[in-house]
Amino acid sequence: MREENQLLKDRSKTDHLSAALILDDLPLAVYTCDALGYITSYNEAAAELWGRKPEIGKDLWCGSWKIFTLLGEPLPLDACPMARTLKEGVAVKGEEIIVERPDGIRKHISPNPVPKFDPDGKLIGAVNTLIDLTQQIAAYEKQVTLAAIVNTSDDAIISKTLQGTITTWNKAAEKMFGYTEEEAIGKPITMLIPPDRLQEEDIIIGNISKGNKIDHFETIRRAKSGEDIHISLSVSPIKDRNGNIIGASKIARDVSALKTALDKTTRYAKNLEIINSLSQEISENLDIKSILQKVTDATTILTGAQSGAFFYNAFNANGESYELYTLSGTPKEAFEKFGLLSNTAVFNHTFSGLGILRVDDITKDERYGNNRPYPGMPQGHLPVLSYLAVPVKASTGEVIGGLFLGHPEQGKFTEEQENLVKAISFQASVALDNAKLYNEIVDLNSKKDEFIGMASHELKTPLTSITCYLQVLHRLETTEKSKTFISKMVQQVKKLSSLVSDLLDVSKIEAGKLQLVKRDFDLMTIIEDAIELIQNSQTSHNIVLKKDLNTISVNADSQRIEQLVINLLTNAVKYSPSAQIVEVLVTRHDDNINIGVRDQGMGIPIEKQKHIFTRFYRIDGVNPSISGLGIGLYICKEVVDRHNGKIWVESTPGQGSTFWFTLPL
Ligand code: ADP
Repeated sequence: MREENQLLKDRSKTDHLSAALILDDLPLAVYTCDALGYITSYNEAAAELWGRKPEIGKDLWCGSWKIFTLLGEPLPLDACPMARTLKEGVAVKGEEIIVERPDGIRKHISPNPVPKFDPDGKLIGAVNTLIDLTQQIAAYEKQVTLAAIVNTSDDAIISKTLQGTITTWNKAAEKMFGYTEEEAIGKPITMLIPPDRLQEEDIIIGNISKGNKIDHFETIRRAKSGEDIHISLSVSPIKDRNGNIIGASKIARDVSALKTALDKTTRYAKNLEIINSLSQEISENLDIKSILQKVTDATTILTGAQSGAFFYNAFNANGESYELYTLSGTPKEAFEKFGLLSNTAVFNHTFSGLGILRVDDITKDERYGNNRPYPGMPQGHLPVLSYLAVPVKASTGEVIGGLFLGHPEQGKFTEEQENLVKAISFQASVALDNAKLYNEIVDLNSKKDEFIGMASHELKTPLTSITCYLQVLHRLETTEKSKTFISKMVQQVKKLSSLVSDLLDVSKIEAGKLQLVKRDFDLMTIIEDAIELIQNSQTSHNIVLKKDLNTISVNADSQRIEQLVINLLTNAVKYSPSAQIVEVLVTRHDDNINIGVRDQGMGIPIEKQKHIFTRFYRIDGVNPSISGLGIGLYICKEVVDRHNGKIWVESTPGQGSTFWFTLPL
């Protein structure tokens, strides 16, 4: 009891001490305890730090309920630094604890409890100053983390002054550029810049000085080894506390591998494009010269050759050398100054079908230069070291020729390029085979046309003579029977003449020599004449004319137009054997006159309609007694086309057909 009274007295003594010591507006947290550990006073800063206001005289040791060691283990309040100071009577220095506030926020604290004694040396309490290290620690940790990031980054991170002096240099910079930190710091950044890019630094510094950032600038920097590295560079200004720009930080990423991959992809895409368009062009092409030129051009581009050529596996007119067919990348004159490919061991390899020959330096090849009288490259020959020759074979296996690619530097052609040229040479072979076949067909066809033209011409003269003689004979004959026979003969000869005329027309059309003689005439008269002619030549059908107009003045070849109407009427009668009526329709449509010939015959299946205007086409399965050559409609179409008109058919099988043609007025 006595002891407690004494303590109470002591506490009152410390009251004035605390009042004097603690200033509420002191930014530092301070509190006091009596000798028993009860909090006797605290300032605002302390309450803020604890996140609560302790009860004076009731809370013990510390204003916070939860404190921890730096390792995060809970620290009992009576073992806190203040408690130890009061228990042991000594100040605790240099310790750090974690204080957790009721709101969960943790503070990193350095407490400094100092014991206080009365003049008799008796412990009367203690004053504790709490230094909040939270921000300082966080800043430090941030710095350490940043340093760790910088040092473990794969990107080179460098800082420099505005004068271009290197101030920091991370591990990746060391690895990328080959200079150690000691070798780089204090040195000018220009040591990394290839001489031809030095002006980039002025631009970068100019931008940085204005506070601008540079993002992902793709450039080249030079390593200590002299190797050039493709980098993507980002540069940002570094500012001091006052916001003044004092330097720049650079992040350089080595994009060499990326660039190589990108270059490769771009090259592949470009190659693919060339190959695709080449395939399309040569598969649609039937002209041998143009196929070979395209193939030579494409392979020259794809291989990066300086010159490319296709040589036929045949000797030229002088019998001296293989026949040069197409050239690419080099003017023809370059080859004209000297003898072309001679039968040397090098070229023989290709022409004899031994396969592809790709050599980095042809002048070092054992086949090269040992072929008397050809000692090597003739004077004035294009300088060729890199050499790639690919045979082009026909489907029969026969070597048609070879693609020869050359470059004045050695080792220019890769396996990848060799494979490309090989693939193209296969395509070329197929295209050449097709073109050859096509040319053979064209050749045969023109021979056939020539024959038809010649034969019909030859037939025409005797037919004309026969007709004349028959007419004379008709006049001389007196018996009726003979006269009838002669008339029948004249009829048949007329039919034959008309067939021969049609054949002759076909050959004229094919040769582009069908001539039109245009004049102004009344189309209606021509139509009526044609109707009369056909009406008089048969009795089975009645031909009915249905017209909107009475006269139609046109400028055309009247004979050809009459021939056209007669052809359509003949067909209408011929292909409607069981019908009795054929109609001719004449109407005007804007600036065109439309003429239709309608029958009630067998009609034409829709899928055959597009073929009937082609040469020698006749529909299969039609009554075999209906004769014809399949050229009438072909001539009709040519006549209408040549008059800038149109011809078509509207037909339903079993119901009949209407053949229409238009002529511009
Ligand atoms: P051709 O009558 O000598 O065979 P064309 O060139 O005049 O030759 O006609 C081509 C083919 O078109 C004929 O063989 C026939 O099959 C068909 N054709 C032409 N006109 C008619 C028609 N009016 N009705 C049905 N088929 C027709």
